[in-house]
Amino acid sequence: MKKIKVKILGSGGSFGVPVLFDRWGKCDPDNKKNIRTRPSAILEKDGKTILIDTSPDLRFQMIDNKINKIDSVLFTHAHADHIHGINDLRCIHLATNKKVPVYVDKSTKLVLLKSFEYLFSSKNLEQYPPICEIKDYEAGNSYEINGFNVRVIHQNHGNIDSLGYIFDNKIAYNLDVKYFYDKNYLDLIKGIECWILGCLRYEKHPAHAEYDEILKWIDYVQPKKTYLSHMTALIDYETEYQNLSKYNIFPSYDGCTFHL
Ligand SMILES: [Zn+2]
Ligand SMILES: [Zn+2]
Repeated sequence: MKKIKVKILGSGGSFGVPVLFDRWGKCDPDNKKNIRTRPSAILEKDGKTILIDTSPDLRFQMIDNKINKIDSVLFTHAHADHIHGINDLRCIHLATNKKVPVYVDKSTKLVLLKSFEYLFSSKNLEQYPPICEIKDYEAGNSYEINGFNVRVIHQNHGNIDSLGYIFDNKIAYNLDVKYFYDKNYLDLIKGIECWILGCLRYEKHPAHAEYDEILKWIDYVQPKKTYLSHMTALIDYETEYQNLSKYNIFPSYDGCTFHL
């Protein structure tokens, strides 16, 4: 099977790091790996690319990482830190002259159609021709998308649901998750090559699993490698690298790239 290149474009939570007003929390401001944009990642295989979410920082993420091609976008859920860069898909359309396929479940579709109608509708063709093509998908099913096998996972995220993914049976991606609806999910991914997992902070949170819970999951699943993402300013890169790298668990950082 062809190798997948994974790049974490944004390793931060909804505020990014530093938080406005130059607030660094527990993060060392002198370590560039602590500068975190809002959450997004890109996967590439055999010349095809899948972008996960359109972070509000998407424009700079694409420029910084010299990304010139997006074949599809998968949306995990409709929180602002995951969708508010969607307007930048207009530039991709301008370059390719093709509608950008965006994969959404029912709840995300409702929000996108309401908040960003001009990207989808034909009402104002002259000024704003539609540039996105809606592709429906739902948790529990598997899809072939740009040469990737994508299994869509149903997650609880506080008072809404979100989606996770398993790509080609070797990369699991679960970012904004409090718990998994499928009680067998951890067994399903047991021993997986790579787990990209949300790790917001140490303290409990109503919509995200906390640090201790995540470490319990990882201990059970025993992935070959785990990369933590969606980290707030309360999690310092070097501290967690020292704590966890001996267990093959790594805090990710913006631009962090690996091949599987
Ligand atoms: Zn969220
Ligand atoms: Zn989020």
